[in-house]
Amino acid sequence: MAHDLNPLQQMIKNQLIARGIKDEAVLEAMQRVKRHLFVSETDRLQAYGDFPLPIGHNQTISQPYMVAVMTERLRLRQGEGTVLEVGTGSGYQTAILAEIASEVVTVERISALSNKARQRLTGLGYNNIRYIVGDGALGCPEYAPYDAIVVTAAAAHVPRLLVEQLRDDGRLVMPVGGASSQTLQVLTRVANDVHCQDIVNCVFVPLISETI
Ligand code: SAH
Repeated sequence: MAHDLNPLQQMIKNQLIARGIKDEAVLEAMQRVKRHLFVSETDRLQAYGDFPLPIGHNQTISQPYMVAVMTERLRLRQGEGTVLEVGTGSGYQTAILAEIASEVVTVERISALSNKARQRLTGLGYNNIRYIVGDGALGCPEYAPYDAIVVTAAAAHVPRLLVEQLRDDGRLVMPVGGASSQTLQVLTRVANDVHCQDIVNCVFVPLISETI
């Protein structure tokens, strides 16, 4: 029917707006980035479903709602700021961040995933993203300090080096907890102090690092 919403519009309405996502910049970015371009051919029909999907190497593209909550909590302003993302994965969240922030630095430990994401995002015309292969628990001091940091893999605690690379009033969002479930936390750096807030329960793949 002509008035039916397409799967992307349904996702925005039923999964994001209905659950309280309000930030216009986030909703508009999620409208512009086509999630089906970030999953395998065989998963395209489910690309706008309310769940993560496999992207190879035992990793997943995050659930759309999680991408939206995390991005909203970074409190980015359209066209401003530098964001560090740990866990490039498919590059889907990287694209959302690059739509909003002025610059994105994204770190991935699996070079095949990083290369694939770079190819995909370059093909889509993004030219404000730096791709780093390495251990994201170390952050990326070269481009620090960051206005915001998002970690898309879970660990028992937030790596100290990441907090150190936040600018004053910078925000860091990360799933913190055990292997089977975590709490999404937002840390805000205020001078040399850190304020922490729990947002929602979640399940992410583990951050794999020898340094934490
Ligand atoms: N935002 C991505 C999520 C991918 S899953 C997406 O939606 O596609 C998390 C990613 O974190 C995986 O690609 C995994 O390889 C990566 N990862 C795990 N530990 C890491 C580390 N120490 N440094 C960088 N990336 C890491």
